[in-house]
Amino acid sequence: MVWTYPRFIQFRSRGLGHQLGTRHNGVVKVLLVEDDSAIAGSVTTSLSNAGMTVHHCATGADAIAAVKEFSPEVILMDLGLPDMDGLDVSKSIREFSTVPIIIVSARGDELDRVLGLELGADDYVVKPFSQRELLARIRAVTRRGHDQSPQEQSGSSLRVVVDERTHSATLDGEEVGLTAKEFDLLAFLSSEPGVVFRRNDILEHVWDTNWYGTTKTLDAHIASIRKKLGSPDWIQSVRGVGFKFVEVPQ
Ligand code: CA
Repeated sequence: MVWTYPRFIQFRSRGLGHQLGTRHNGVVKVLLVEDDSAIAGSVTTSLSNAGMTVHHCATGADAIAAVKEFSPEVILMDLGLPDMDGLDVSKSIREFSTVPIIIVSARGDELDRVLGLELGADDYVVKPFSQRELLARIRAVTRRGHDQSPQEQSGSSLRVVVDERTHSATLDGEEVGLTAKEFDLLAFLSSEPGVVFRRNDILEHVWDTNWYGTTKTLDAHIASIRKKLGSPDWIQSVRGVGFKFVEVPQ
C-alpha cells in the first residue's frame, strides 16, 4: 500500500543544511521493511503525516523486489524478519543499489552486529524510537543523497540559509540568533517555501507528537522569528489554516 497526503499539508523533508527557497518536486519515498504490523502502522502514519510516501513490506524477499519496483530514497530495515535476517536483506540490496538503509533494531546486541558487519548501512535506530528521531535520521541520510545533486549546490543566492548540522540560520550571511525551538520552527516551515502548514501539524512536528498546550506559544515564536529576520513577510499567516514561509526579495 502507498499512503499519500494532500499537497497543502505535505512536509517535504530534505534534511540537514538545506537552503531555503530551493525547489524540490515530489516527496521522500520510504521503503518500510517490518513484519510487526503494529509498528509498521504507526511508522507509516508518522511518515505519511510528515509528507513522505511509504511502501511497506513484511518480508525480506518482498523488500528486495520492492527496491527494484518502488525505487525508494531510503529504506527502514527491521532485522528480525520471518524469511530472512534484515542484515542479509541489506547485503542483497547493496549488490545492486546504493539507496540509504537505516537499520531498525530492537536490541543492543543486534547493534553490535550491525556495526561489526559494516555492511554499508547508513544509520540505525533502536526500538522504541520516537517519531522525531526517526524523521531526523531519514532527513539526514536523504540529505546526503541530495548533497550530490548539482541543483542543490547551485542555490547560493538565497537570503536565508538554515543549517541543521550547526543548528544555525543566517540572513544575508549574518547569523540570526534563534532559540532552539525558533530554529526548529523556521527549519520546518522553510522546508517547503510557499506551502501552508497547519497549526496542529506545526505543533506536532516542532514541539511534540502529544502537544496539549496553547497555540499562543506558536504565535509567540512566529512573532519572534519575524522580528529577528527583520520583516513579518518571511512567515505569512493564512487565516484559519496556519503559516507559510516565503522567500523575501532583497
Ligand atoms: Ca521483526
